[in-house]
Amino acid sequence: MCHILAPMSHAITLIPGDGIGPEVTDAVVRILAAAGVAIDWDRHDAGILAVEKTGQTLPTALVDSIRRNRVALKGPVTTPVGEGFTSVNVGLRKTLDLYTNLRPVQNLAGVDSRFSNVDLVIVRENTEDLYSGLEHVVVPGVVESLKITTEKACTRIAEFAFDYARRKARRKVTAIHKANIMKLGDGLFLDSVRAVAKKYPEIAYDERIVDAACMHLVMHPERFDVLVLPNLFGDIVSDLAAGLVGGLGLVPGANLGTESAVFEAVHGSAPDIAGQDVANPTALLLSALLMLDHIGETDAAQRIREALGRVLADRRVRTRDLGGTSSTSAFAGAICDELT
Ligand code: NAD
Repeated sequence: MCHILAPMSHAITLIPGDGIGPEVTDAVVRILAAAGVAIDWDRHDAGILAVEKTGQTLPTALVDSIRRNRVALKGPVTTPVGEGFTSVNVGLRKTLDLYTNLRPVQNLAGVDSRFSNVDLVIVRENTEDLYSGLEHVVVPGVVESLKITTEKACTRIAEFAFDYARRKARRKVTAIHKANIMKLGDGLFLDSVRAVAKKYPEIAYDERIVDAACMHLVMHPERFDVLVLPNLFGDIVSDLAAGLVGGLGLVPGANLGTESAVFEAVHGSAPDIAGQDVANPTALLLSALLMLDHIGETDAAQRIREALGRVLADRRVRTRDLGGTSSTSAFAGAICDELT
């Protein structure tokens, strides 16, 4: 008897998020389905949407789902500014010990931008630094925010950066820091990265102070390759780098730990354009392609990458941030048409 095997279905946690999150995640889910990738999505709310239903910003059921599936695709989640609940995004990364935030920043063919020669990879420490959320009022009018730096976290992020550089045949790792001022904290970061660099003699290593690094990045981005940074500098430099290649609508990301991985774009919930069907889903789509590579669906990832490339190169269907007039759903539809 002959059995035809159905393609294996992947169980993946889906967090649509809020703001533009549901719009861009819908677009990406459609595109992955059009590419024929079999996925059982396990949908969960987070942030303000979850509080309304469960009383928790980061529901236990959501965290359990990611622990079980080991992979999640996540839309952005709003964090109130200066008040309210602490960041769900930071909470998720800490809870699951997703210690690496990997953000490849590259030009896309067919997308005009300030530079045409950008191909750099941001490796951001994702669990400590000023994101520890440890703040207190010392006396009225004086606040202390604690920047935590541990040798363990600095060493493992440096190891990730150099190992990534070796695996992907990259030539150089640059550590970005402010150890001239934070001699102990960023000094420990630098000492830890230097110790790891010694184990990778074939990969060039250099260091830059963060302010000068920003100047060099906007003048000569082609001189950078892999960047390894503490949490806050990594966050800021990510948005700066996105600006080099055409904006936040284009840059993907992955939060990686030893047990699980959460794939999400660099951008946030973009409340200024939410609910209008105008957001660019490319950043989340590219994050989903990192996810497909991660789970071994490399052929599907490549087909989607090529379909996206054809739609962008054709220049007829593109979202507002890229100078077009197409909606999020029309852009996703054009990629689906290329795939089917
Ligand atoms: P943002 O990234 O949401 O938006 C910055 C600018 O980029 C806005 O003008 C926005 O319209 C534009 N933009 C972002 N994504 C776009 C897309 N896909 N297509 C077209 N244009 C896009 O940053 P913000 O406004 O500073 O933050 C808004 C909220 O998002 C805040 O609550 C913040 O805490 C949260 N946030 C969440 C995450 C996350 O979930 N990982 C990341 C960053 C910010």
